[in-house]
Amino acid sequence: MTNILVYALHYEGAFNKNSLGAVSEAARLAAEIGGEAHALVLGSKAELTDELCGTLGTYGATTVHRAEGPEGLSQPVVDAMAKVISDGGHGYALFGGGLLGFEIGAGLVARLDAGVTMEVTAVNARDGKLVAERPILQDSSISDVEYRSSVGVIIGRLNAFEIVERGSGAAAVVDVDYELSEWSTKATMVQRGEQRGADVNIEDADILIAGGRGLGKAEGFEALEALAGSLGGAVAATRAVVDAGWYSYSAQIGQTGKTVAPKLYLAAGISGAIQHKVGMQSSENIVAINKDSNAPIFEFSDLGIVGDLNKIVPKLTEAVKAKKGS
Ligand SMILES: Cc1cc2nc3c(=O)[nH]c(=O)nc-3n(C[C@H](O)[C@H](O)[C@H](O)COP(=O)(O)OP(=O)(O)OC[C@H]3O[C@@H](n4cnc5c(N)ncnc54)[C@H](O)[C@@H]3O)c2cc1C
Repeated sequence: MTNILVYALHYEGAFNKNSLGAVSEAARLAAEIGGEAHALVLGSKAELTDELCGTLGTYGATTVHRAEGPEGLSQPVVDAMAKVISDGGHGYALFGGGLLGFEIGAGLVARLDAGVTMEVTAVNARDGKLVAERPILQDSSISDVEYRSSVGVIIGRLNAFEIVERGSGAAAVVDVDYELSEWSTKATMVQRGEQRGADVNIEDADILIAGGRGLGKAEGFEALEALAGSLGGAVAATRAVVDAGWYSYSAQIGQTGKTVAPKLYLAAGISGAIQHKVGMQSSENIVAINKDSNAPIFEFSDLGIVGDLNKIVPKLTEAVKAKKGS
């Protein structure tokens, strides 16, 4: 039986969306290779209650390994995961991505002499083993990665894995008896900043209003903020406008930014370059406003509006406000 261990990050009594996607994906894959999906959580026992940990069962985890330690740092998680994998013989460790996932995954690889694939966008089961898909050559091609090592580490792109409620009850919670390495206690969490400077966590937002160079100037984002505000969403951006200093890097979507999968992604003045597409193509509904009817973004939009965003966006905001009566 080949089990998969997932690191689930929590904060203030909730698991983050990215981790829930990874747990769901591990459960799907484990079922295909005849194993189980387990999760590892690390923090204070007071916060990580049996009840909270058990909720990961909803996403398909059968066992949650609960380790006590300083939350939000990578090295303690490496210690705990390495112990659980060594004791339990897990065949794979799966991470949803994000900076912490990359750090923990890299540490685990060094500790276990494991193989690793980063920036994975999909994972398949083949002949009882997992094969990771990793975009290469500026995302123009996909490579299949198989593992020869006894443990394979798979680190997804942020939000690459869909959240699916597939479990049938609470997961069993098991406390992990592990030792922190000497270096693992050298770093302490001094302050937890607002995520990369954003008021709204765009990776978790259901509605994203994204702006590109078609906005013409930095002030163009004000109209998008108004629309996002009226819809209860957040604002995202292309690299072109981030490089131009019009909007913060924390909002950049794409190959060198974040990967998102909101319910609605409205792209205003965005051409739809491949490097942008890879960060938002999994959105449930894509709506594009572009004055060029041949813009590539229309090729992967559910709804395309050909026109001037300066006229359309304010009218849309007015219409949303009128509908909501605000
Ligand atoms: C290695 C590498 C990594 C990259 N990583 C990223 C990344 O992570 N994210 C990313 O976004 N890009 C990335 N890029 C850049 C990418 O290739 C594009 O250059 C960028 O996405 C283009 O941004 P844009 O759509 O805002 O601008 P443009 O391509 O200039 O498109 C502007 C669009 O606005 C439309 N428009 C203009 N005026 C109006 C108007 N008034 N109303 C309506 N529409 C209008 C135009 O028709 C046009 O389609 C990367 C590039 C490389 C080489």
